[in-house]
This record gives sequence, C-alpha cells and structure tokens, in this order.
Amino acid sequence: MIKRRNFIKGSVLGAISTTTPIISRASGLFEINKRSSRKPIAVATWDNRKATRAAVDVILKGGSALDAVEAGARVPEADPEDTSVGYGGLPDRDGIVTLDACIMDESGKAGSVTFLQHIKHPISVARKVLEETPHVMISGKGALEFALSQGFEKENLLTDKAKKTWEEWMKNNDYRPVNHDTIGILAIDDKGKMCGACSTSGMAFKMHGRVGDSPVIGAGMYVDNEVGGACATGQGELVLETLGSFLVVELMRQGLTPEEACKKAVDRIIKKYPELKEGGAQVGYAALSIEGEVGGFSIDKGYSIAVSDKGQDRLIVPDHYLG
Ligand code: ASP
Repeated sequence: MIKRRNFIKGSVLGAISTTTPIISRASGLFEINKRSSRKPIAVATWDNRKATRAAVDVILKGGSALDAVEAGARVPEADPEDTSVGYGGLPDRDGIVTLDACIMDESGKAGSVTFLQHIKHPISVARKVLEETPHVMISGKGALEFALSQGFEKENLLTDKAKKTWEEWMKNNDYRPVNHDTIGILAIDDKGKMCGACSTSGMAFKMHGRVGDSPVIGAGMYVDNEVGGACATGQGELVLETLGSFLVVELMRQGLTPEEACKKAVDRIIKKYPELKEGGAQVGYAALSIEGEVGGFSIDKGYSIAVSDKGQDRLIVPDHYLG
C-alpha cells in the first residue's frame, strides 16, 4: 500500500522552485472584504453559496449563529449530487461512506463526530454531542449508537452515482487526492456572536477508518469570539499536521488580517512539504474576523469562498501559492 509521504510526493505533477513568489491581490480583495462586514454574515469553503444563504436566512428569522452554521452544513449534507459531504458522499476504498463533522459555539464549546456511518446529518449529531454529552468527540459505532438514541434515522448513504464512481476507481485502485468541496462554515449573528461548523465524507477512497482534519477542533475549524474563526478544506493530513484553523485564528489574534493569516498557515504547509506541485494536494482556508472581515488562501488554484450577508451572495477567489 502506498504510504502517505510517498503519496504526497507521488500526487504532484510538475516542478516548482521553493522561491516561487506568493502573488498578492490583497488590495482588491480587501475592498470586497470591507464591504462584506455587514452582519449577519456567513462564510464557507468552496461555492457553498446555498449553504451561506441558508445560514444567513436562519439568523434573519431570529436564529442564533449556532442554528445558522448547522443549517448551512445541512444543505450539502442532504444533497445527493454533492459527493464530498453527507448523503451521496464518495465512499472509502471498501465502498463504505464514513462521515466526519464538528461544530463550535460562541463560548468555544465544541462537539464532534468521526467515522460515523448511516446518518445523513453528522453536523446535527455533532451539535447533540456538544449539547447533550460531557464529551467533545464521539467516534464510529459509539457515534452511531448515540445518534440513534437521539432519534436520528439509520439510512443508506451510498447513492448509485457514488457507487459507480467507486466501482470505476476500483479498476485501478490508485489513491490520489481529489479536490472536492467539504464544507467549513462560519457565521456571525446580529448579536455579533460567531459559531462554526465543518462536515465531510472525507477524502474519496481513503483507508477504512481514516479520519481527516474536518472533525478535529482546531484543524478543520476553530472559532474564538475574541478574534474570529477559520475553517479548512483539502487534504486533511496537511491541515492536521499544522493544526491549520487554530493557527489561522492565533495569527489573527496577533494582528494579521484573515487573508494574511490564511497565507501564513499555507506557508507552514509549504515549508513542511516544499515538493508540493500544481495539480497535486490542495488545502484551502477561509477566515472571518469577529469584525466581519473575510479572507482566504490556498495552496493551489481552483479554490473559492462563498460569502453571504443580508443582501448578497458572492464568491471570492483568494490567492494561492502555486500556479
Ligand atoms: N479535509 C477533508 C478531509 O481530509 C477533505 C476535503 O476537504 O476535501 O477529510
């Protein structure tokens, strides 16, 4: 079986010097960011505008930021066409769909589920972990039993489309990172409180039992209401090894803008894996300051961030390191 470090090396396509400059479009993006400081506001990884809109609508109807991020994450979780999250997610190499999710409230309390099977909305189970248990993280069979005890329904999450894709993949059985659209979502409600959520079916065709960054507090998502929040998508191993979302928030605490903080967190990965090349492993961050300033950065091109506030849904394309 291919080992992770070899996999990272093997997943890259071209050559790059370690002195490749980081292009900054900060000035243009900053203008957009400043305009986006109207609360309520929701920000999500990738083009999850339906999710950020759903989140803001919850707040406009009187819901909290926690209700909002849960509602936002439930949008791709329920969508069978979304092969990265919840129902319809691509399975592991054994053909089994396993889900990871976490949620964090404005006081910094968190709930998380990992390696959960058969439950369409892991984010809602994570919220139950936060609200109904003395724990932060529940995994596997225990997470499923807990979900069932809370009234969640056991379902088959492997759609025909996902099964066909897995069967195709099985022909070559070649594990490569597929950039896809895990949702990390942050929202500030009209009281100025920020919460965050993250939900994924993980890397397609991962080893059975593999857990990525998404359900790990501080890796896939982190929120601190003194500063702001951050969330991550992409190859979870790279985010886990740098505790990316926590790092972004701590850098914002030191005075960096969301964009600068995300860029520095990407730099940390590049320093560790200077061999990363275009078209290989991707990581993208999205960050939101408690004042409502939005920023992001990614390793490779192709990443985007959805932003919704009272009046508008838009897509931001942050700068990236490669290409
Ligand atoms: N970060 C997720 C994981 O590693 C996957 C993704 O965002 O594409 O499980």
